[in-house]
Amino acid sequence: MDPVGLTLKSEVFKDVFKLEDDVLVFKAFVNGEWSDYPTRINVRSPIDGSLIAKVAVPDWESIDRGLDLISIKGRWTIRNIPGERRLRIIDRIAELMEKYREELVETLIVDAGKPVRAAASEVEASIDRLRKASFDLRKIEGDYIPGDWSIHTLESEAIVRREPYGVVLAIIPFNYPLFDTVNKFVYSIIPGNAFIVKPPSHDPLTSILFVKLVLEAGFPKDSIAIIPLPGREASKLVADRRIHVISLTGSTKTGLEVMRNAGIKQLIMELGGGDPAIVLADAEISMAAQKTAMGIASYAGQRCDAVKLVIVEEPIYEEFKKALVEELSKLKVGDPRDKTTDVGPLIDESSVNDMLEAIREAEAYGCKILYGGRRLNGNYVEPTLIEVTEKGVLKLLKLYRDEVFAPIAVITKFRDLDEAIEIANNRRYGLDAAIFGKDIDKIRKLIRFLEVGAVYINEYPRHGIGYYPFGGRKDSGIGREGIGYSTEYVTATKSIIYNYRGKGIWEYL
Ligand code: NAP
Repeated sequence: MDPVGLTLKSEVFKDVFKLEDDVLVFKAFVNGEWSDYPTRINVRSPIDGSLIAKVAVPDWESIDRGLDLISIKGRWTIRNIPGERRLRIIDRIAELMEKYREELVETLIVDAGKPVRAAASEVEASIDRLRKASFDLRKIEGDYIPGDWSIHTLESEAIVRREPYGVVLAIIPFNYPLFDTVNKFVYSIIPGNAFIVKPPSHDPLTSILFVKLVLEAGFPKDSIAIIPLPGREASKLVADRRIHVISLTGSTKTGLEVMRNAGIKQLIMELGGGDPAIVLADAEISMAAQKTAMGIASYAGQRCDAVKLVIVEEPIYEEFKKALVEELSKLKVGDPRDKTTDVGPLIDESSVNDMLEAIREAEAYGCKILYGGRRLNGNYVEPTLIEVTEKGVLKLLKLYRDEVFAPIAVITKFRDLDEAIEIANNRRYGLDAAIFGKDIDKIRKLIRFLEVGAVYINEYPRHGIGYYPFGGRKDSGIGREGIGYSTEYVTATKSIIYNYRGKGIWEYL
């Protein structure tokens, strides 16, 4: 394997890092300027564990000054820039991302360990999301309410308008570090909020590069900040009253912690998931198997919308199982820099251990490994499928109870729809579900009863750019992400009541 390194050649990025002992040290943008701090986060590549960069962690005094700047001044600066000009800045950011696309893709590959195609598609999705920002602005809408439906409000009327809350704190997960930063940025600033981003410690670099391009595009520097901070040290920031909205994408455990610390704030919580795929007896077996394999193994199963539970109707169970194993065996695990790689490394060793522990537990319960099951080397693991034949055992498994963030799923059979619904709904998560099949009556019944935020029919769950809204129920979260749909959570309504009593405008009978 070639040694892993990171180089950023473009002049535009020169002021966001410096070289120290041949290592790139990235600065933070907290108080209207790029600054270095003595405390650092070491950023290691999941490809081979080598140190690719360090990121400066601002001290609380600097964060405190930064919060003053953004909440006293910056949140009004951004609001006072007309929407039409905010949109032009977003267009300019998209142009800059096009221009520096290659460096963004390369950074994502080494920083997140994303296979080339996945990294390129995340950058593409981010540009696309910026270009679709004008779809969001039509959701900044209000109401007109006539007064004559209540005797208390005769001769009055109201308009209800949406206005930005003020300052949005976006907390970003490691699995879509660039796209999630871009998406949360767009839906926050379209209605006129200021924006703070806390990047993931595993792979914070593309969020930093994005903030640089935002500033380069002419975004006001007092209305944005990037605060690289280890999550376990972020509770003071989360609790701060100068932040009005928290938009977190992360695990359910983190979601609970953030909710406990946040105090009274508006929240968007995109939390843990892992989805069921229900395969009906009349499904097109080869298509369903190919898509389910992608659902399990794409980005090494480190997706909130990854398939973790495959539930197959009894008559086709054996045939489908064979087809799925065949599809999984076609996937190539390896160095994400190699264009032919399908499955890259897991983000860190603890994720590998988590997967191996789940496999050991399943084996101890008598489950059979149908495919994979082994660590290859470093953070590389085989895509894995585990068969569960005993209903009672399924619910005991870590693979069913928790979200194991790796390319692994369990497969089991069902006899009737009620059983499939019960198996799917009994998990604590409720992000999405996939249904493969043709019988419209069965599909319609499943749609009605599945407790999830999105149902994909003849497709594996994939949120993409949020063209269709997504978001969880139960332990998978609160709120929705999706073009236009998040506006509701970053704006507050304000009712303006006009009283015309006695002015002779209305002459009620
Ligand atoms: P994570 O460990 O929960 O971390 C997410 C972010 O929260 C990171 O920036 C982390 O910082 C920060 N954080 C951790 N503890 C915190 C605290 N006490 N206060 C404030 N911030 C804190 O999740 P991850 O491993 O990066 O991402 C994978 C998880 O995200 C999975 O559970 C996945 O399902 C979920 N996800 C959900 C969706 C969805 O749409 N529902 C989409 C993508 C991912 P550090 O990095 O510094 O620890």
